[in-house]
Amino acid sequence: MNNLATLLAESAWSEGNRVAIRQDDVVLTYAELNNISSRVAALLRTKGVRAGDRVALVMPNVAHFPVAYYGILRAGAVVVPMNPLLKAREIEHALRDSGARIVLASPLCEDEVATASAEVGAECVVTDPTAFDALMRTTEPMPGIIDRADNDTAVILYTSGTTGTPKGAELTHRNLMTNAATAAKTLLHVGPNDVLFGGLPLFHAFGQTCALNTAVAAGATLTLLPRFDPVKALKIMHRDGVTVFLGVPTMYTALLHAGIRDGDDLSRLHLAVSGGASLPVEVLHAFEREFGVTVLEGYGLSETSPVAAFNPPDRPRKAGSIGLAVRGVELKLVTDDGTPVGPGGVGELAIRGENVMKGYWNRPRATAEAIRDGWFHSGDLARVDEDGYYFIVDRKKDLIIRGGYNVYPREIEEVLYEHPAVAEAAVVGVPHEIHGEEVAAVVTLRPGARTTPDQVRDYVKQRVAAYKYPRIVTFADALPKGATGKILKREIVVTPQTSGNRT
Ligand code: AMP
Repeated sequence: MNNLATLLAESAWSEGNRVAIRQDDVVLTYAELNNISSRVAALLRTKGVRAGDRVALVMPNVAHFPVAYYGILRAGAVVVPMNPLLKAREIEHALRDSGARIVLASPLCEDEVATASAEVGAECVVTDPTAFDALMRTTEPMPGIIDRADNDTAVILYTSGTTGTPKGAELTHRNLMTNAATAAKTLLHVGPNDVLFGGLPLFHAFGQTCALNTAVAAGATLTLLPRFDPVKALKIMHRDGVTVFLGVPTMYTALLHAGIRDGDDLSRLHLAVSGGASLPVEVLHAFEREFGVTVLEGYGLSETSPVAAFNPPDRPRKAGSIGLAVRGVELKLVTDDGTPVGPGGVGELAIRGENVMKGYWNRPRATAEAIRDGWFHSGDLARVDEDGYYFIVDRKKDLIIRGGYNVYPREIEEVLYEHPAVAEAAVVGVPHEIHGEEVAAVVTLRPGARTTPDQVRDYVKQRVAAYKYPRIVTFADALPKGATGKILKREIVVTPQTSGNRT
């Protein structure tokens, strides 16, 4: 039986009475999650869904998400998860592209989904809070699970990848099952007594594999937070005795700024995992000090299910590193013409292994560009040290070339995060007549901090080579962030302003 949904069936068998999913007052045991999802599968079958058909899933992190997710898989269909904040046009693109004819949506995104569904002739099934009860009354569970082959597609994740419009990364049952098993057994070491934090969006690879599928593979509890907010996050970590926190770097900075309040009991928390973007070393150290927990950084992409590298828990972690290739995965660094790059040099990170997607859905050209000789080319620049630990230098496309010199934004951002007044920072290139590109920094300040853009610029100037420091420094109230919490550099607009004051 190779269906990803067997992860749930197995945990329902061994951990039936244990809480699988909690979303505030909604609590589902493994037996209940298994039972209701098999009714979703039955419902989909009555609507004509057959093995290999695509079914879209548009929901925030609510208890209906895992019910629908495993229900679709059980029916042998392919899940096409989408960000619930998408507008009708964007949903329409993914529906048309994937050919999904049924959309399971939460009432929160009903209008946009209904508009998009009408355009493509798809059926929109809204799962409101009464949907569980209605299903229990009207639909019998589908017996068993529709069998799928290792290489059959389980999930299509829409990602902008390194370039262009969103493409669907086709992840197979084997890709996702092995990645979740690796995360549960060898990276996070989680079991039925663990409680995982579910604040990472489940429609995205990081949350889906490392929070949802990992928790289910381990028979652990996943406590969901529909929209990340540091105060609410601390509340559910205390209330549910979270043992493993998973987050993107902006969640770490937000938690640090919120701070632990008197009465918050985080004594069960024993591991924090960061991924999705680079975690500034300064933030990592501050979080470990404040929360008294080890932070392990990992790395991956939608196309790699996602985990490709991780700092192994049984060895001292290296701050600033994404760690080693995980079990079943190989990494290498290459130049543009494919020449291998050795320790010390910078090259594009290429990935091979059981986690690499089958390809981009219906896009053979894009697939052939991304996967060459069996190696997936990530578009990320990295270096490796003598111990095999990888360090992400930056994304290839974020590299700034100023007057012929390479400036890696991440290096400058690390320095900015060391500045005591800086809360968050992003460094981008802006067009320049003479230098081709100029280095610009946009920062947000910690509450109550007083400094000027000139002072911030001089701080960096004293610490890096002259060609690298940002000539333009601007202050912003907030940085644009995607639904996963990653800083969206392409949406940063720099308005030159090199002096000024701010409190
Ligand atoms: P996505 O497909 O949305 O998961 O985005 C994948 C991209 O996130 C990668 O290509 C990297 O640029 C970035 N990323 C993920 N993890 C890390 C990390 N630990 N450090 C730096 N960048 C990361």
